[in-house]
Amino acid sequence: MTQNSYIALEDGQKSYRIGGETIRIFSDLDLSISQGDFVAIMGPSGSGKSTLLNILAGIDTLDAGTLRINNQRIDRMGEAARSSWRAHNMGIVFQFYNLLPMLTAAENVALPLLLKPLLAAERRSRVANVLDLVGLKGREKQHPSVMSGGQQQRVGIARAIVSDPNLLLCDEPTGDLDRKSADEVMEILTFLNRDLGKTIIMVTHDPQAARSANRVLHLDKGQFIDNERAA
Ligand code: ADP
Ligand code: MG
Repeated sequence: MTQNSYIALEDGQKSYRIGGETIRIFSDLDLSISQGDFVAIMGPSGSGKSTLLNILAGIDTLDAGTLRINNQRIDRMGEAARSSWRAHNMGIVFQFYNLLPMLTAAENVALPLLLKPLLAAERRSRVANVLDLVGLKGREKQHPSVMSGGQQQRVGIARAIVSDPNLLLCDEPTGDLDRKSADEVMEILTFLNRDLGKTIIMVTHDPQAARSANRVLHLDKGQFIDNERAA
Protein backbone atom coordinates (compact mmCIF):
# COMPACT_ATOMS: atom_id res chain seq x y z
CA MET A 1 0.00 0.00 0.00
CA THR A 2 2.67 2.47 0.99
CA GLN A 3 5.64 0.59 -0.49
CA ASN A 4 6.49 3.50 -2.76
CA SER A 5 5.88 6.28 -0.27
CA TYR A 6 8.79 8.42 0.76
CA ILE A 7 7.04 8.98 4.07
CA ALA A 8 4.61 6.39 5.40
CA LEU A 9 2.89 6.79 8.74
CA GLU A 10 0.52 3.94 9.60
CA ASP A 11 -1.85 3.69 12.58
CA GLY A 12 0.00 6.50 14.33
CA GLN A 13 -1.00 6.97 17.96
CA LYS A 14 -0.04 9.84 20.21
CA SER A 15 -1.31 11.02 23.61
CA TYR A 16 0.11 13.33 26.22
CA ARG A 17 -0.36 12.88 29.94
CA ILE A 18 -0.89 16.15 31.77
CA GLY A 19 -1.30 15.70 35.50
CA GLY A 20 -3.49 12.62 35.81
CA GLU A 21 -5.25 13.25 32.52
CA THR A 22 -4.53 11.68 29.14
CA ILE A 23 -5.03 13.91 26.12
CA ARG A 24 -5.33 11.94 22.92
CA ILE A 25 -3.87 13.83 19.97
CA PHE A 26 -4.53 11.12 17.38
CA SER A 27 -5.21 7.40 17.56
CA ASP A 28 -4.96 5.86 14.10
CA LEU A 29 -3.45 8.40 11.81
CA ASP A 30 -2.22 7.42 8.35
CA LEU A 31 -0.15 9.60 6.09
CA SER A 32 1.59 8.82 2.84
CA ILE A 33 3.81 11.30 1.05
CA SER A 34 5.71 10.83 -2.20
CA GLN A 35 9.23 12.00 -2.84
CA GLY A 36 9.23 15.49 -4.32
CA ASP A 37 5.78 16.35 -2.98
CA PHE A 38 4.90 19.72 -1.42
CA VAL A 39 2.24 19.14 1.23
CA ALA A 40 0.51 21.77 3.33
CA ILE A 41 -1.08 20.70 6.62
CA MET A 42 -3.81 22.96 7.95
CA GLY A 43 -6.15 22.63 10.92
CA PRO A 44 -7.35 24.33 14.09
CA SER A 45 -4.93 25.35 16.79
CA GLY A 46 -4.28 22.42 19.13
CA SER A 47 -5.20 19.78 16.53
CA GLY A 48 -1.73 18.23 16.70
CA LYS A 49 -0.01 19.69 13.64
CA SER A 50 3.22 20.56 15.44
CA THR A 51 3.12 17.23 17.27
CA LEU A 52 2.90 15.45 13.93
CA LEU A 53 5.79 17.49 12.46
CA ASN A 54 7.90 16.78 15.55
CA ILE A 55 7.19 13.07 15.15
CA LEU A 56 8.16 13.18 11.46
CA ALA A 57 11.33 15.02 12.52
CA GLY A 58 12.15 12.36 15.11
CA ILE A 59 12.09 15.01 17.84
CA ASP A 60 8.97 13.47 19.40
CA THR A 61 7.95 9.80 19.20
CA LEU A 62 4.79 7.80 18.48
CA ASP A 63 3.15 5.80 21.28
CA ALA A 64 2.28 3.14 18.68
CA GLY A 65 2.18 2.72 14.91
CA THR A 66 4.89 2.71 12.29
CA LEU A 67 6.78 5.55 10.64
CA ARG A 68 8.96 4.87 7.62
CA ILE A 69 10.89 7.58 5.84
CA ASN A 70 12.89 6.57 2.81
CA ASN A 71 12.35 2.95 3.87
CA GLN A 72 13.88 3.46 7.29
CA ARG A 73 11.87 2.60 10.40
CA ILE A 74 12.13 5.88 12.30
CA ASP A 75 9.81 4.56 15.04
CA ARG A 76 12.32 1.81 15.86
CA MET A 77 15.32 4.13 16.20
CA GLY A 78 16.67 5.27 19.54
CA GLU A 79 17.21 8.92 20.27
CA ALA A 80 20.83 9.07 19.08
CA ALA A 81 20.01 7.33 15.79
CA ARG A 82 17.10 9.71 15.27
CA SER A 83 19.23 12.83 15.80
CA SER A 84 21.86 11.56 13.44
CA TRP A 85 19.21 10.65 10.87
CA ARG A 86 17.71 14.11 11.25
CA ALA A 87 21.07 15.84 10.79
CA HIS A 88 21.67 13.98 7.53
CA ASN A 89 18.21 13.97 6.01
CA MET A 90 16.10 16.94 6.98
CA GLY A 91 16.00 20.66 7.50
CA ILE A 92 13.50 22.35 9.80
CA VAL A 93 12.07 25.87 9.45
CA PHE A 94 10.38 27.42 12.49
CA GLN A 95 7.73 30.12 12.86
CA PHE A 96 9.98 32.32 15.01
CA TYR A 97 13.19 31.49 13.07
CA ASN A 98 15.10 30.14 16.12
CA LEU A 99 18.28 32.01 15.20
CA LEU A 100 21.00 32.57 17.77
CA PRO A 101 21.16 36.35 18.35
CA MET A 102 24.87 36.46 19.23
CA LEU A 103 25.84 34.88 15.90
CA THR A 104 25.92 36.50 12.45
CA ALA A 105 23.71 35.28 9.60
CA ALA A 106 26.60 33.24 8.18
CA GLU A 107 27.43 31.73 11.58
CA ASN A 108 23.80 30.77 12.15
CA VAL A 109 23.64 29.12 8.73
CA ALA A 110 26.93 27.27 9.33
CA LEU A 111 25.70 25.60 12.54
CA PRO A 112 24.44 22.35 10.96
CA LEU A 113 27.79 21.96 9.19
CA LEU A 114 29.76 21.87 12.44
CA LEU A 115 28.91 18.17 12.70
CA LYS A 116 30.38 17.45 9.27
CA PRO A 117 34.01 16.85 8.38
CA LEU A 118 34.40 19.75 5.94
CA LEU A 119 37.31 22.02 5.15
CA ALA A 120 36.80 25.62 6.24
CA ALA A 121 36.78 26.80 2.62
CA GLU A 122 34.09 24.27 1.66
CA ARG A 123 32.02 25.33 4.67
CA ARG A 124 32.30 29.01 3.72
CA SER A 125 31.37 28.36 0.12
CA ARG A 126 28.30 26.30 1.07
CA VAL A 127 27.13 29.03 3.46
CA ALA A 128 27.66 31.72 0.80
CA ASN A 129 25.75 29.63 -1.77
CA VAL A 130 22.65 29.13 0.36
CA LEU A 131 22.61 32.75 1.55
CA ASP A 132 22.76 33.77 -2.11
CA LEU A 133 19.94 31.35 -2.91
CA VAL A 134 17.64 33.01 -0.33
CA GLY A 135 18.55 36.50 -1.58
CA LEU A 136 20.83 37.52 1.30
CA LYS A 137 24.13 37.85 -0.50
CA GLY A 138 26.24 40.53 1.21
CA ARG A 139 24.49 40.14 4.57
CA GLU A 140 26.75 37.36 5.89
CA LYS A 141 28.07 39.47 8.77
CA GLN A 142 24.75 40.94 9.91
CA HIS A 143 23.19 39.84 13.17
CA PRO A 144 19.52 38.80 13.35
CA SER A 145 18.66 41.90 15.44
CA VAL A 146 19.24 44.24 12.47
CA MET A 147 17.24 42.09 10.05
CA SER A 148 13.52 42.16 9.24
CA GLY A 149 11.38 39.13 10.08
CA GLY A 150 11.39 38.11 6.42
CA GLN A 151 15.18 38.31 6.26
CA GLN A 152 15.51 36.32 9.48
CA GLN A 153 13.23 33.62 8.11
CA ARG A 154 15.35 33.47 4.96
CA VAL A 155 18.41 32.92 7.17
CA GLY A 156 16.39 30.14 8.82
CA ILE A 157 15.69 28.57 5.42
CA ALA A 158 19.37 28.85 4.45
CA ARG A 159 20.32 27.06 7.67
CA ALA A 160 17.73 24.34 6.93
CA ILE A 161 19.15 23.61 3.46
CA VAL A 162 22.89 24.10 4.02
CA SER A 163 23.40 20.34 4.57
CA ASP A 164 21.43 19.65 1.36
CA PRO A 165 18.72 17.50 3.00
CA ASN A 166 16.00 15.80 0.93
CA LEU A 167 13.22 16.74 3.29
CA LEU A 168 12.14 20.13 4.63
CA LEU A 169 9.70 20.41 7.53
CA CYS A 170 8.25 23.89 8.05
CA ASP A 171 6.05 24.81 11.04
CA GLU A 172 4.11 28.00 10.22
CA PRO A 173 7.01 29.48 8.21
CA THR A 174 4.98 32.60 7.32
CA GLY A 175 3.09 32.81 10.64
CA ASP A 176 4.98 35.85 11.89
CA LEU A 177 5.45 37.67 8.57
CA ASP A 178 3.71 40.43 6.62
CA ARG A 179 2.22 39.47 3.25
CA LYS A 180 5.16 40.60 1.14
CA SER A 181 7.76 38.77 3.26
CA ALA A 182 5.48 35.73 3.40
CA ASP A 183 5.24 35.68 -0.40
CA GLU A 184 9.04 35.89 -0.69
CA VAL A 185 9.43 32.96 1.69
CA MET A 186 6.87 30.95 -0.30
CA GLU A 187 8.71 31.74 -3.53
CA ILE A 188 11.89 30.28 -2.05
CA LEU A 189 10.10 27.16 -0.78
CA THR A 190 8.47 26.69 -4.20
CA PHE A 191 11.89 26.95 -5.86
CA LEU A 192 13.37 24.40 -3.44
CA ASN A 193 10.53 22.01 -4.27
CA ARG A 194 10.20 22.50 -8.03
CA ASP A 195 13.78 23.15 -9.03
CA LEU A 196 15.81 21.30 -6.40
CA GLY A 197 13.34 18.45 -5.82
CA LYS A 198 13.06 18.87 -2.06
CA THR A 199 10.10 17.16 -0.42
CA ILE A 200 8.35 19.77 1.72
CA ILE A 201 5.82 19.38 4.51
CA MET A 202 4.53 22.72 5.75
CA VAL A 203 2.11 23.39 8.57
CA THR A 204 0.30 26.66 7.95
CA HIS A 205 -2.72 28.79 8.87
CA ASP A 206 -2.16 30.91 5.80
CA PRO A 207 -4.44 29.89 2.90
CA GLN A 208 -2.32 31.91 0.48
CA ALA A 209 0.81 30.03 1.56
CA ALA A 210 -1.05 26.71 1.29
CA ARG A 211 -1.75 27.49 -2.37
CA SER A 212 1.94 26.99 -3.14
CA ALA A 213 1.64 23.35 -2.08
CA ASN A 214 0.41 20.71 -4.50
CA ARG A 215 -1.52 18.92 -1.79
CA VAL A 216 -3.43 20.28 1.22
CA LEU A 217 -4.36 18.11 4.20
CA HIS A 218 -6.69 19.22 7.00
CA LEU A 219 -6.01 17.76 10.42
CA ASP A 220 -8.95 17.93 12.83
CA LYS A 221 -9.90 15.80 15.86
CA GLY A 222 -7.05 13.39 15.19
CA GLN A 223 -7.95 12.71 11.57
CA PHE A 224 -7.17 14.09 8.17
CA ILE A 225 -10.68 15.19 7.23
CA ASP A 226 -10.02 16.29 3.70
CA ASN A 227 -7.40 15.49 1.13
CA GLU A 228 -7.28 17.51 -2.03
CA ARG A 229 -4.67 17.32 -4.72
CA ALA A 230 -4.36 20.32 -6.99
CA ALA A 231 -4.51 19.74 -10.72
P1 ADP B 1 -1.06 22.55 16.81
O1 ADP B 1 0.35 22.66 16.32
O2 ADP B 1 -2.00 21.93 15.82
O3 ADP B 1 -1.59 23.85 17.32
P2 ADP B 1 0.11 20.92 18.91
O4 ADP B 1 0.64 19.72 18.20
O5 ADP B 1 1.08 21.94 19.30
O6 ADP B 1 -1.08 21.55 18.05
O7 ADP B 1 -0.65 20.46 20.22
C1 ADP B 1 -1.70 19.51 20.23
C2 ADP B 1 -2.16 19.29 21.65
O8 ADP B 1 -1.15 18.61 22.39
C3 ADP B 1 -2.45 20.58 22.41
O9 ADP B 1 -3.57 20.35 23.22
C4 ADP B 1 -1.19 20.78 23.23
O10 ADP B 1 -1.48 21.49 24.42
C5 ADP B 1 -0.77 19.35 23.54
N1 ADP B 1 0.70 19.21 23.65
C6 ADP B 1 1.60 19.49 22.69
N2 ADP B 1 2.86 19.22 23.10
C7 ADP B 1 2.76 18.74 24.36
C8 ADP B 1 3.68 18.27 25.35
N3 ADP B 1 5.01 18.22 25.10
N4 ADP B 1 3.19 17.86 26.54
C9 ADP B 1 1.88 17.89 26.79
N5 ADP B 1 0.95 18.32 25.91
C10 ADP B 1 1.36 18.74 24.73
MG1 MG C 1 1.63 24.28 16.13
